[in-house]
Amino acid sequence: MKLYLRLIKYIGPYKVRLLLAGLCTLVAAGGTIYLPWIIKDVVDQILAEKDLVKLNYISLSIVLVFIIRGIFYYGQSYLMSYVGQHVVIDIRKAVFEKLQRLSMAFYDKNKTGTIMSYVTNDVNALQTAMVDNIVEMITEGFILIASIIAMVYLDWKLFLFTFGTFPFVLLFIDFFGKRIRKSGSKIQEATADITSVLQETVSSARVIKSFVREDYEINRFDKENMNNFRANMKYVKLSATLTPTIELVAAMGVTLIVWYGGRSVIAGEITAGALVAFLSYAVNISNPIKRLSRVIGNIQKALAAAQRVFDVLDLPELIQNAPAAKQLPHVKGNVSFQNVSFAYNADEPILDNVCFEATPGQVVALVGPSGAGKSTVASLLPRFYDVTSGRIIIDGCDIRDVTMESLREQVGIVPQETMLFNGTVYDNILYGRLDATEEEVMAASKAANAHNFIMELPNGYETQLGDRGVNISGGQRQRIAIARAILKNPQILILDEATSALDTESERVVQDALDRLMVGRTSFVIAHRLSTIKNADKILVLEKGKVVEEGNHDELMDKDGLYAHLYKIQYRNKEAQ
Ligand code: ATP
Repeated sequence: MKLYLRLIKYIGPYKVRLLLAGLCTLVAAGGTIYLPWIIKDVVDQILAEKDLVKLNYISLSIVLVFIIRGIFYYGQSYLMSYVGQHVVIDIRKAVFEKLQRLSMAFYDKNKTGTIMSYVTNDVNALQTAMVDNIVEMITEGFILIASIIAMVYLDWKLFLFTFGTFPFVLLFIDFFGKRIRKSGSKIQEATADITSVLQETVSSARVIKSFVREDYEINRFDKENMNNFRANMKYVKLSATLTPTIELVAAMGVTLIVWYGGRSVIAGEITAGALVAFLSYAVNISNPIKRLSRVIGNIQKALAAAQRVFDVLDLPELIQNAPAAKQLPHVKGNVSFQNVSFAYNADEPILDNVCFEATPGQVVALVGPSGAGKSTVASLLPRFYDVTSGRIIIDGCDIRDVTMESLREQVGIVPQETMLFNGTVYDNILYGRLDATEEEVMAASKAANAHNFIMELPNGYETQLGDRGVNISGGQRQRIAIARAILKNPQILILDEATSALDTESERVVQDALDRLMVGRTSFVIAHRLSTIKNADKILVLEKGKVVEEGNHDELMDKDGLYAHLYKIQYRNKEAQ
């Protein structure tokens, strides 16, 4: 019921159209119940009196009524579908907007395919329900009610006798409805699993081929595909049982009418015309009942999808602007971590009391063994996650007291692997600052050592980059990422292993661009290859979530601690090569 109410809220803005649609439904359904009504007069008067003129008039009126019914039927279908489609579009938009607002923790916890399924499969299921089924439900529901009223009017005793069992039928439908809904939710989950496997295999095509795991993936897909088949067949079994059962009940009802009504006619309690009309109504409502039972099944299935959609809409937005958040003014780049502790999951502390300072223009390197928490430190700065305790201060402002947008505008990130969007090279660079001019884009790509290779591409800046930009090399991709960052012109920069995936030659060109990018900005550099951060102003050595050493290269070498140890291992390996 709550679900229905929530769905109905989305209909609010389209009240007028819905009202008009309701009016059209009324007229169209009125047309449907006109025929049985007129039959009574045909049988009792016209046929009894053999009045040919009246017969002509009545035949003409039937044609007219059906023409009018057709016109209003069109209006009703059009308007109802308009409202339904709009509601679906609004819901889809709301889900997408919500996905944009959800924090990284949501994306860590959910598979990409599952998330995609919310916006595609689940909203589509809602669409079928809203557009097709609700239209049908309202029309058939109206015909049902009007026919019942007509039957009660014709002979209430006959009605009570034949439809006394009706409440039991409703209970039966309700019982089935619940099971169908559960089964519908299984179908949606199974469909999401298929999308998920599909998404994973498409995005990991290279890995699958290199490990020759095509058959393995086919098996995995087959399993999900069969799960989906079973979930669908369960649904079919339920709805296939429901329909004939209801038809059987309907047939028994008709038999009862013929038997009991026939006796009443013979006894002279009602006219033959009334019985024929009553019977026509009864047959007339078997259609709505049949359709309603199917529609109810579909709607239950859609409600399961609606539940999933609303579950997403109800997720808490963990990272939000504080009520009194102000704009972070243009910063100089003073960054201070004060007793910062953090955990992704409540019981697994990752950072423990991390403290350090970075002054404007400084290059701060984060080093340490894998899993020490380097990337985590970097993720806290743009507030991808909030600290569990402690504070992060930029130019004297706690980052939780300023708006997320103004903070993130001033923090640039060059990640290890750059995601490029489908679109031209130009658009991909422009992503850094949407209102940049052509000259600024060119200047940025020149500074990023990217201009020359871009000019050599088939269409220069207008070259389309495919999914994830697979048609250009890793080094070229990084240079586009750097151009993006230069265009964004942030005061604070995070370079998260930006050159680690590159070969030495490519690394030299990218490093050269990075050096230019870092000038005048507070930069945090995460690097495994310690040779790349030798010149950093400050090196923070992390181990198991703690800062264990701090200083420049020479100081740390003198100290002969973890840094010196890591450096010597790398140096030795390099010499050995
Ligand atoms: P590497 O050098 O291998 O990239 P790192 O020093 O950058 O490692 P982090 O990526 O910060 O380390 O990870 C620190 C710890 O946090 C690891 O134990 C890791 O398993 C855990 N971790 C990282 N990301 C998440 C996440 N999204 N959810 C839960 N735990 C995470």
